[in-house]
Amino acid sequence: MKPQELKAAVDKRRTFAIISHPDAGKTTITEQLLLFGGVIREAGTVKGRKSSHFAKSDWMAIEKQRGISVTSSVLQFQYAGKQINILDTPGHEDFSEDTYRTLMAVDAAVMVIDSAKGIEAQTKKLFKVVKQRGIPIFTFMNKLDRDGREPLDLIAELEDLLGIEGYAMNWPMGMGKGLAGLYDRVDHRIELYRENEAGEKYLPLDQDGKLDPSEPLANDSIYTDTLDSIELLNDAGNQFDLKKVMTGDQTPVFFGSALTNFGVETFLKHFVEMAPAPGPHKLQDGREISPTDPNFSGFVFKIQANMNPNHRDRIAFVRIGAGEFERGMDVTLARTGKVLRLNNSTEFMADTREQVQTAVAGDIVGLYDTGNFQIGDSIYAGKDPVEYEKLPQFTPELFMRVTPKNVMKQKSFHKGMQQLVQEGAVQLYRTYTTNDYILGAVGQLQFEVFKFRMQNEYNSEVVMTPIGSRVARWIDPDQLDEKMSSSRNLLVKDSQGLPLFLFENQYAERWFADKYPDVKLTAKL
Ligand code: GDP
Repeated sequence: MKPQELKAAVDKRRTFAIISHPDAGKTTITEQLLLFGGVIREAGTVKGRKSSHFAKSDWMAIEKQRGISVTSSVLQFQYAGKQINILDTPGHEDFSEDTYRTLMAVDAAVMVIDSAKGIEAQTKKLFKVVKQRGIPIFTFMNKLDRDGREPLDLIAELEDLLGIEGYAMNWPMGMGKGLAGLYDRVDHRIELYRENEAGEKYLPLDQDGKLDPSEPLANDSIYTDTLDSIELLNDAGNQFDLKKVMTGDQTPVFFGSALTNFGVETFLKHFVEMAPAPGPHKLQDGREISPTDPNFSGFVFKIQANMNPNHRDRIAFVRIGAGEFERGMDVTLARTGKVLRLNNSTEFMADTREQVQTAVAGDIVGLYDTGNFQIGDSIYAGKDPVEYEKLPQFTPELFMRVTPKNVMKQKSFHKGMQQLVQEGAVQLYRTYTTNDYILGAVGQLQFEVFKFRMQNEYNSEVVMTPIGSRVARWIDPDQLDEKMSSSRNLLVKDSQGLPLFLFENQYAERWFADKYPDVKLTAKL
């Protein structure tokens, strides 16, 4: 590709993830987005796959239908001349560290909120990770076809619970059965929920944001009430600030109903206009790499194990940070200096898996891996080594004690343990004094996958004893006194030997903080 072609291709990319709490409507809206991109023929395709296949037990068997788990990880479609990549961030049972790491590979996030429920627990967790990256966050307040909370409340909650300013791009005119439309503050029009008698879907607003007085709706109280709300927003609400949007300090808020496909295209249109194309990435040595750097490079943000014991291979998901990917190209693995030829790559489409033809900065490629890659690895073509900034560590919340079932098989136990931990499948801790193995994860599925793979790939049956959820807090080794440990705060060390406490709950943490006010406790992301 010539430099101008590469630049044009990169500028077209929009790579993002949708974050939400289960049931807020992520699948439904994804489906609608794909329909606008013409990728799936009928709504329901994604849903049908998701409902059962994504659940944990099925995930184990999913490699029988190998395409499914893989293709659904990245959905690609074209819209308004842009090439859109949606990265899946699973919720429900298959929530895992991968979910967090996927957020390291996107350039923007879309937060879907159920307007009857407001901001829920999982959204909050995912938001925190996205916020730390300083990338734009767009909000879709969903399920407007049902009675929900006051729109003003929902906007205020963004600031109160998440600390992000909300700017309403449009405003609901009623909700539930009374939903009449959306007052569009940007495109200066009213988008009707149902076409009017004249068959119109949109009614233009004049310079002052008013309907033509001859319009029947102009005399409806739902319209005059909306004008009052808009006036309030204009006077007392946040001012739109694109700079703040770009740094994730302000979120453009769109209202709508994914199920009835209302407001979704309006959202998509603005999203595509405002969301950034891939930008430069930070490297470990402090430099930045431009996405249009002619030499290909990228980083592994997720590794998906193949659950078929006959095939040890896995798929490493690589976010391209710069240049163009070509099949069969030679790349260097930065960690080892080893040169690898990339023959087997997979492109991600909604329904089919196709071999990658062209993929540039912003795109994701899946590489078959026979054990070369670890999470966070950088690969590069060209002579200059490129090492992307390290991926952050996340604080696990669930813990298990693990031992080999057969003590005679220590060797395979240790080998499997070491490799799976290196790969980033789970976090490993050792108890401070007795060196017992403790595994930490952010989602239950990680343990199940671990157990399954230990048995299938390393022939090591493990016994796992749940410790349950714990609050993990690191402590400065200089401040540590082993006497501080008790049954309510288990003292362990992480893979780098750094000490941390696993508190039974927040109360135990608070009790500790009161007892040792000088000791600083820190959480990872
Ligand atoms: P996910 O768990 O976030 O992927 O949520 P889904 O997309 O699976 O939606 C959860 C449930 O909410 C499903 O029963 C959907 O049909 C429903 N749902 C999604 N969007 C809407 C909406 O806009 N209005 C209504 N009434 N229901 C919706």
